[in-house]
Amino acid sequence: MTQASLGESVVQKTIHATHAQNNGVAASVTQTQPLWLLAEVTYRCPLHCAFCYNPTDYDKHTQNELTTEQWIQALRDARKLGAIQLGISGGEPLLRDDIEEIVVEARKLGYYSNLITSGVGLTEKRIQAFKEGGLDHIQLSMHDITEEINNFITNTKTFELKKKVAAMIKGHGYPMVLNVVIHRYNIGHMKEILEMADALGAEYIELANTQYYGWSLVNRSQLMPTREQVEEAERITNEFREKSGSKMKIFFVVPDYFSDRPKKCMNGWGEVFMIVTANGDVLPCHSARVLPNMKFPNVKDTDLGWSWKDSPAFNKYRGDSWMKEPCRSCDEKENDLGGCRCQTFLLTGDAEAADPVCSKSPHHHLIEQAILDARNPAIAAQPIVFRNDKNSKRIIAGELKDRVGELHALP
Ligand code: SF4
Ligand code: SF4
Repeated sequence: MTQASLGESVVQKTIHATHAQNNGVAASVTQTQPLWLLAEVTYRCPLHCAFCYNPTDYDKHTQNELTTEQWIQALRDARKLGAIQLGISGGEPLLRDDIEEIVVEARKLGYYSNLITSGVGLTEKRIQAFKEGGLDHIQLSMHDITEEINNFITNTKTFELKKKVAAMIKGHGYPMVLNVVIHRYNIGHMKEILEMADALGAEYIELANTQYYGWSLVNRSQLMPTREQVEEAERITNEFREKSGSKMKIFFVVPDYFSDRPKKCMNGWGEVFMIVTANGDVLPCHSARVLPNMKFPNVKDTDLGWSWKDSPAFNKYRGDSWMKEPCRSCDEKENDLGGCRCQTFLLTGDAEAADPVCSKSPHHHLIEQAILDARNPAIAAQPIVFRNDKNSKRIIAGELKDRVGELHALP
């Protein structure tokens, strides 16, 4: 799954929409309600994207996926808690043959459902079944306008297939919703990517600058553009937006590293997002399992309501009582709640510190160093570690720690 498929622009829109019309959920269910349920139904994937933000140790979780019945139960339980938006994601969700059943159940329960896919495995038969079953939305990831970069960054030959799938989605009357992860290899093609989206009839495109977790952190020095490239990409996007008017909504998700303040990660820990992973772990954020000394509940043996409301994991970083200085006394803390716990831990070794993206953080030099490194061709020339089972096993065995350590990404 692409990391910005739940980008903040989408989150804000969703929250506004669901507050306005909550499809029959009791009005009393208001505080810290999991509006979004993200079902990461499998970690298997035919693509091997260098920026994938699935866990680098995903290979541990490919053998014990939830069954169809367990997924359906999770959907029912989350709906009772107030969930209204369902993202069906992965890995590649279409590698499971029960997505049609899950979609039918989602419709019955009143979810607004969104399939987040690379397109591999989408056939006429399946899309027809999704349409009949009531799937609301399909979000397709695209990678570049060139076959060369598409195939390189995914380590597959999927360029032609993606174009066919885009046409199929449009042909079945779905809105064309594209997600393009932006990195050093495609940031110079911003205008052409927008023209491609326009030509495909896209109603919505998210230009999701790479954020550095999971595989993209391992490959950070290969993927990270320079500040000038990011500024130029944003300028081109704004210019295109002005010229093209409102027919295609364009979201340019600003990369954390190039901001002075962090984002309010997941719109606040345990505030609106609940993620159920392929093996049933219940998480407040996709990357949360990187944090030390945390035990996350699992739907196989724990009630989802308890997980959300009462579990120590979901309460650990709710609100701001966990904060240390400089966040604790910061007059901006309401805006970002101290940033992202996972990013902070991965870069500083202290999950309770201020996000190093923040210029007030004592660790901000780590971000400044990463930005400097992006200009260094020697660092950038390292080979990419593609997301695949073999590399996941290597990471589980501790093999690539040095590689990330050299880049100031671990303490
Ligand atoms: S490898 Fe690519 S397509 Fe597969 S889950 Fe990761 S980002 Fe998505
Ligand atoms: S010091 Fe902490 S709370 Fe204040 S702006 Fe920075 S990250 Fe946010």
